[in-house]
Amino acid sequence: MPTLRFHAIKETFNRVPVPVTEPERRSEIFGKNVFNEAAMRQYLTKDSFNSVMDAIEKGSKIERHIADHISTGMKEWSIAKGATHYTHWFQPLTGATAEKHDAFFETMENGQAIEKFGGGQLVQQEPDASSFPNGGIRNTFEARGYTAWDPTSPAFIYGTTLCIPTVFVSYTGEALDYKTPLLRALQSVDNAATAVAKYFDKNVTKVNATLGWEQEYFLVDSALALSRPDISLAGRTLLGHSSAKGQQLDDHYFGSIPARVLNFMRHLETECMLLGIPVKTRHNEVAPNQFELAPIFEETNLAVDHNSLLMDLMHKIAEKHNFKVLFHEKPFANVNGSGKHNNWSLATNTGVNLLGPGSTPMKNLQFLTFFINTLKAVNEHEELIRASIASAGNDHRLGANEAPPAIISAFIGSQLTEVLDELEKVTSGKLSPQEKTDLKLNVVGKIPEILLDNTDRNRTSPFAFTGNKFEFRAVGSTANCANPMTVLNAIVARQLIDFKVEVDALIKGKKMKKDDAIFNVLREYIKDSKRIRFEGDGYGEAWEKEAKKRGLSNHKTTPQALKAKISKKTISLFEGLGIMSKIEVEARYEIEMEEYTLRIQIEGRILGDIARNHVIPTAIRYQNILIENVQGLKNIYGTDFKKFSGEQMRLIEQISEHIAKINKGITEMIDERKKANKIENVEKKAFAYCDDVRPYFEIIRYHCDKLELLVDDEIWPLTKYRELLFTK
Ligand code: ADP
Ligand code: MG
Repeated sequence: MPTLRFHAIKETFNRVPVPVTEPERRSEIFGKNVFNEAAMRQYLTKDSFNSVMDAIEKGSKIERHIADHISTGMKEWSIAKGATHYTHWFQPLTGATAEKHDAFFETMENGQAIEKFGGGQLVQQEPDASSFPNGGIRNTFEARGYTAWDPTSPAFIYGTTLCIPTVFVSYTGEALDYKTPLLRALQSVDNAATAVAKYFDKNVTKVNATLGWEQEYFLVDSALALSRPDISLAGRTLLGHSSAKGQQLDDHYFGSIPARVLNFMRHLETECMLLGIPVKTRHNEVAPNQFELAPIFEETNLAVDHNSLLMDLMHKIAEKHNFKVLFHEKPFANVNGSGKHNNWSLATNTGVNLLGPGSTPMKNLQFLTFFINTLKAVNEHEELIRASIASAGNDHRLGANEAPPAIISAFIGSQLTEVLDELEKVTSGKLSPQEKTDLKLNVVGKIPEILLDNTDRNRTSPFAFTGNKFEFRAVGSTANCANPMTVLNAIVARQLIDFKVEVDALIKGKKMKKDDAIFNVLREYIKDSKRIRFEGDGYGEAWEKEAKKRGLSNHKTTPQALKAKISKKTISLFEGLGIMSKIEVEARYEIEMEEYTLRIQIEGRILGDIARNHVIPTAIRYQNILIENVQGLKNIYGTDFKKFSGEQMRLIEQISEHIAKINKGITEMIDERKKANKIENVEKKAFAYCDDVRPYFEIIRYHCDKLELLVDDEIWPLTKYRELLFTK
């Protein structure tokens, strides 16, 4: 009897929902563990408070003596809340978050002790940076990195630690994290969008990019998860035959949230409230044991931090409820994978959503300006957008036959399609008063404030306009949103800068009126970016053919997709906006290529191990039982035994065939790995892992899964899909 699998299953039988206590009103505890405006007002001097607010709103510098005041206030606040340690919290390029805890506690000369936390410690720290990926940047003798306080994201208390959001940069100034380029991209889009928004309203002085992510995930009982080496080590199943029942009946999606899960969610949401993460929605997803959680949208930098913090929090809370959270994009074959939709828009300091249609023709012209510029930007940089969401895990969604596809396109709905078709016909040059009135009344004026047909969305589009925001759906569930958000905000910033130059040229050079100039430029943009618009079903062969004709990229694997990250076009985009230097861009590329290689390498090892050490020995054991049976029949029936043992003998042969194919597959895969490991060049190595090693996964899995169907369930060692997916 395979003990681990059955032991784990038995353990799940006794599970009961773990009780949770919730506050009467969530609003009362919201942000209680965040050093937010209210806390700052209480703990900071007026000067310090104003200085932090200026830094948040205008990006101004905080003087050193002020930093000393702020750190003291922060320390007092956090000690009053039970904190004993502080840490610089940052997001290295590994995907996780990093922190090193230091105690406030210091000793004094007289043998006494005090709690200390100075401005210097708040503003800058030097973590031992050598263990974080750097893509070769720190291979010089100045091989140190430092973290620096990001005042735009508030400090918070997590457990008993004061966490200070920081950027992580090398001593030579290169970004070593996700946050640094994101902040620079957000600054660029703020500048560019503010300048354009001023065409419509002079009072606009700041534009914030907003982000509302939707996090999908699976929950598996922790005992069952631990019983599977692949789930424990790779976060996904590398083999396992599909359960007879999967998601066909949609009964999970429409069913109620299971009791244990609901308690986990309530517990998690309470913790989120304390940390100021405004979670709002929770529901079951399509696949069994798959769920989703979404907050109210926030300014992008804060939303990115909150998503990173949430993922960390989810692991910890899940443990308390005897679950393991799987963020992997495809933990189980043949049921839906997980994504992280990034809902994105631009909001002015005057409270206007620039991607929200308005009630007057002028407001709608503003809306169309930002809407069409975004489409143009996506059209120009579709390949970079695809690259921004490339990962070994996401390849299982984007590269496989599942929506969204690897081709980036934009869905806008029939109402807006009609509007763009009309605008495309606008006269070149100055518009007659009659045409203008007509446009304002019948085209621009006719965009309803609420776009009804966008509610009936196309679910397969990777980038869909959903009424008052774009929804970037192709982002993977494990991703740090900073990566796609840096790209999206950068390309829109670039586009808006170019737009303003063109419009101004028409106003000055051709003496056009402002709205004439805008109509003229938008008309050309609509024509230019037609190929990115696609309203149909976003995957399948027909679309692939069509996309190819349109010249859209279709990179199914991460190494292919990533190449756009170091193209001349990308480097000039990032350098031009001051977001990243060539060195930084190239370093990131190396890190991501290397990460891909490592993931496939680890998966290959695990698969080889499970197939050789778990599956094959079990299959042989079962085969021996069959052989014994056949021999027994022979003893009883002599030469007649074949009449009774035909099926058993066929099974014996089938088992041998599958074993042989598994063994051959593993041997060849290991040979390919050995070859790939000798390659020095990071890019070539990633391609070798992708093209030469990875294809064996399917072959090995196929035969293992066949054996799962043949071998006696009682002795099968690996917890099965039906157990993983349907234990609640
Ligand atoms: P659904 O897509 O499930 O129908 P909604 O359209 O209401 O739900 O919103 C989905 C997500 O979009 C939520 O996380 C929400 O906060 C976010 N969202 C809504 N408006 C904006 C906006 N202007 N900017 C960024 N995100 C937004
Ligand atoms: Mg959505």
